[in-house]
Amino acid sequence: MKVRYSYLPQQFGNCDDLWVSLKKFVETGDFTLGKPLKEFEEKFAELIGTKYAVGVNSGTDAIKLSLVANGIQPGDEVITAANTFVATVGAICEIGAVPVFVDCDDTFCMDTFKVEEVITEKTKAIVPVHFSGYMTDMRKLIPISEKYDLVVVEDACQSILGSIEGKKAGTWASTGAFSLHPLKNLNVWSDGGIIVTSNDELNNQLRLLRNHGLENRNTVSIMGFNSRLDTLQAVVGNWLIPKTEEIASQRIANAKRYDVGLSNIDQIRIPPRLEEYRIVYHLYMVFAEERDRLLAFLKDNAIEAKIHYPIPIYRQKALKYLNYKAGDFPVTDSHADNLISFPCDQHLENEQIDFVIEKVKEFYS
Ligand SMILES: *Cc1c(COP(=O)(O)O)cnc(C)c1O
Repeated sequence: MKVRYSYLPQQFGNCDDLWVSLKKFVETGDFTLGKPLKEFEEKFAELIGTKYAVGVNSGTDAIKLSLVANGIQPGDEVITAANTFVATVGAICEIGAVPVFVDCDDTFCMDTFKVEEVITEKTKAIVPVHFSGYMTDMRKLIPISEKYDLVVVEDACQSILGSIEGKKAGTWASTGAFSLHPLKNLNVWSDGGIIVTSNDELNNQLRLLRNHGLENRNTVSIMGFNSRLDTLQAVVGNWLIPKTEEIASQRIANAKRYDVGLSNIDQIRIPPRLEEYRIVYHLYMVFAEERDRLLAFLKDNAIEAKIHYPIPIYRQKALKYLNYKAGDFPVTDSHADNLISFPCDQHLENEQIDFVIEKVKEFYS
């Protein structure tokens, strides 16, 4: 049996109706900020439960434009998680702001108890990352941001429809940033991103920023970016969005099956499953003894497991100028050495999950 990581051929294997919509769309020539985009934005806002959603050209830009719309300037310090995907940090650096890292805890998200230690005069914003489908504890983070008057932008790229006490990722802060990249839970056929907010002024500002600051055809009111969500991708998004809830619940069911099957293996530790959280498992990760040998063994058995990520972003060459060094974030470091990700997507068969569990058992026995 083969257990592949990428399910994309299956995701779009049966979409004749989508091709019909795309053909109709191409005939309209409505390629820039067209009707399907407006439709997708309305559906997305409804899905998350915010007043607005603004399509942009990537999840990275969703973070970047959120920071700019909130007035973040070059030189400002922006706090984020030491274990995140490069894009979060890229968005901060792109506007000349300075990333300041905080270690994560075993939920893979920023340890909110360590945030106040790194706040300085220059701190202007916090970008919590809802990594892997877990969520940063926003019940703790929002009061800290209020105490120090800091902007919060949620990086919810991996956590669509995740929630804490029923309140969804993306709805806790000024804005929430989502990615529609092919590898994300709600995925289109290219790059894409979307920002949710319920703030009228931020909504207006974001719409200007994504389209060159153009108020209308002849008036540029602020200098902006070319960061529109491709209307063709919005057609794909409109096709997939009714399935988003099903995608989340199938991933949750798969994770449950893994949890049960792996729980009696001593060398595997399952991360905390907090009751008030809805974890949507963009990644299904556990802690494994002899991780690298396990990874190789699974590969030999046609199981594509992965590591997210073997070298944490804070230790990457590109960020050497920030002067962080190995050991600064011990939890992140230990995750890099011990975590393993198993396929968990909505197209996985129960037999495949059981096969992974069986092979993990075999490895340790
Ligand atoms: C994917 C991702 C992004 C950015 O997404 P792109 O659409 O690829 O630009 C940002 N943050 C995290 C945590 C991500 O996983």
